[in-house]
Formats: sequence, structure tokens, C-alpha cells
Amino acid sequence: MESTGSQYRDGQNLSFYIQDTKSGRMYRRGKLLGKGAFGRCYKFTDASSRQVFAVKMISHTRKIHKFYRGGVENEIELHCNLKHKNIVRFYHHFEDQKYMYMVLEYCRHKSLAHILRVRKLLTEPEVRYYMKQILQGILCLHQQGIIHRDLKLSNFFIAKNMIVKIGDLGLATTVEQCEKLPGVICGTPNYLSPEVLAKSGHSFKSDIWALGCIMYTMLTGYSPFRARSQKEMYYFIREGFFPVPTFISLSARRLIISLLASCPDNRPCLEEIFANDFLTKGFTPERLSSTMCHTAPNFTF
Ligand code: ADP
Repeated sequence: MESTGSQYRDGQNLSFYIQDTKSGRMYRRGKLLGKGAFGRCYKFTDASSRQVFAVKMISHTRKIHKFYRGGVENEIELHCNLKHKNIVRFYHHFEDQKYMYMVLEYCRHKSLAHILRVRKLLTEPEVRYYMKQILQGILCLHQQGIIHRDLKLSNFFIAKNMIVKIGDLGLATTVEQCEKLPGVICGTPNYLSPEVLAKSGHSFKSDIWALGCIMYTMLTGYSPFRARSQKEMYYFIREGFFPVPTFISLSARRLIISLLASCPDNRPCLEEIFANDFLTKGFTPERLSSTMCHTAPNFTF
């Protein structure tokens, strides 16, 4: 669904209109939502339906940059067919002379990284709430043969009603592509697994490793492989050295240790994670209030 667009500046109120000339849709560009490595993301409002979107604008000069990961076309191809409650919806894309526009589902509460920055660490019921949704999103990706390769807190967007949506498929790939080019990494994933460091290639289990790092970070406020240098960090990852926090529950500790198993085959599969004691035995809130973006909840039983 690619089409071309054009830009207009409204002289009176200085708002900025962008038209997708093929579909005829006119958008009003609103506030800047954030800057990414390869472009900016703005709030866009469809001028006729008033529907709000997050639009990633990537300049054509940036698009051809050699570090633009798997390429914008790869990102679009993988993302555009995914329709799941826990994955940021990719509606369509268009371009004009300057930019490529990716029209995405708007997530009003930013990301889990933003929440953790304010909150420092999260409670176990909240972590269960977020993990269950993240797992549903990963399950959808893996069932389609897609490995995300860059799961991290800043790629878990939080939409209306505190629903988690996995986004940014800029580093994603399919298992087939991975098997053709094992060991190739374009760009740097946030949570490097031992097999990726050893250049043995990504697999679904590398996403599971990242999930272990994410769960650890949500519960403790820091990543498991902190070090004084990159060399030391890689050493800790290769050797599987990370401090096991004593202030979290035994079931949380056990799950983290299994997710961070050095050998990918020893990590649990998604079905095993869903059935894990940490996720099934403790209290999980059905919904979270948006006040929990900045204030710790006080769950009363
Ligand atoms: P990068 O891939 O380099 O992290 P992105 O272009 O994906 O950058 O995102 C840049 C910023 O834009 C994010 O940090 C986030 O604040 C905001 N953003 C991206 N996608 C959305 C979205 N769907 N809804 C709301 N904000 C978003």
C-alpha cells in the first residue's frame, strides 16, 4: 500500500499538513513523540476521520545509510501483515520527495523504558501483567516465523488502557533469512545473547534471552550484565555471570535463571514460560491504571 505524498504549510495557524496523494488522506502533523536513530516520530491526525497515529518519518538520505539495519523495506514487509493486540499496528506507508512515512498505531503512554525511568523498578504483579502481554506478542511473531532480535523496554509501547504493544521491527528477520545468513548482525541489539556474541546466529531462543534481561531489569532496575567495560560485559555474557537478586521471589529468580541459560536449547520455550510458576501462581492485575506510569501501586487483596 505504498503511495506518494506532499506537504503543505497552513499560513494562518502554522500547523503542518501532509497529504498522502495516492489515497488522498490528509494528515495534520502534531507534536514530536520522539527521535530515533534513523528519523523522527510525530503524532499525526487524519484531517477527516480525526484518528490519531504515530508516524515515523525517515528521510530518503537516511534510508540508504549502511547502518539502517535490515533496511526499511524489510521492516515494512515484516510489520505490515501483523495484526495482534500486543503488536503496534502498522497501517500503511507512503512517501514524498523527502521522506518515507510509516503510519503506526499511536501509543499514548510512550514505552516501558519511560515508565521504568520514572519508577526505578516495578512490583511483581505489574511485571506479570506486562510479561503476559509481551509473551502474547512474541508468540504471534514466532508463529509467523519472525525473530524480533531487538526486544527491549523501549520497544514495548504502552497504548490506551495500559495495553503493551511490541514495536520497532527494524532489526527483525525471518528464520529462513537467518538460516541463509547465520551470524550476520546488522545494527546492535540491546541485549546480546552468548550465541549472537559467538556469531552462531539468532534464533527464537535469542528473543527468549532478551526476555530474561527485560524481566530482570523490570524487577531490579538494572540490567543483569552490568560491567565497567564492553569487554568485561561480553565476558560476563559468555560465562553466564550475573548477580541473582535476593529481594525478588524464588519463582521470579528461577524463571530469570532459566531464561538466561547460556545454551539456547536449555532456555524454556514460550509454552513453558506461560505455564511457569512465576506467571501462574502469583496475583496478576487484570488491568493497570495509568497512574502506575509514575506511582507504585498498592495492591490490596
Ligand atoms: P528507534 O527505532 O531508533 O528507537 P523510533 O523511530 O522507533 O526510534 O521511535 C522514536 C521515538 O518515538 C520512541 O522513543 C517513542 O518515544 C516514539 N514512538 C515510536 N513509535 C511510537 C508509537 N507507536 N506511539 C507513540 N510513540 C512512539
